[in-house]
Amino acid sequence: MKTVRIGAGLIDMLERAAWHATPHEACALLLGCVDDDTVDVATAVVTDNVTSGDPETSFEIDPAMHIQMQKLARVGGPSVIGVWHSHPKGAPQPSDTDKAQSVELGWLWLITGHVADGVSVTHAFVAGDTDPHDLKPARMDVTPL
Ligand SMILES: [Zn+2]
Repeated sequence: MKTVRIGAGLIDMLERAAWHATPHEACALLLGCVDDDTVDVATAVVTDNVTSGDPETSFEIDPAMHIQMQKLARVGGPSVIGVWHSHPKGAPQPSDTDKAQSVELGWLWLITGHVADGVSVTHAFVAGDTDPHDLKPARMDVTPL
């Protein structure tokens, strides 16, 4: 199981973004670095949810922002290592749509779910090295800030 290192402040920021976007799903690109055992999340860039489907049950990262982040990575910025989104009405588990949408090998998927009134929980998953639709649970190592 991979370990995902992420700051508590970043999770807090994402959970607030999820709350603000409700009833729509919120989404962000995750930037940082990846090695064999560990994924380090340096920061996240929240983007508009540009889904052509129902934004209450689906999301799509703004492709212009994705291209911008890839350009920055090429000139020494952090790599795009995955995606975050929220489930305003559901558990922090990948849906069948999420699994179908997961096409990048080894990408980190962070999902914030709504588990009770005012209570959000964020879980991490990593796409398989050979099958990107296979989103495996990862261990979260939350660091102070
Ligand atoms: Zn989802």
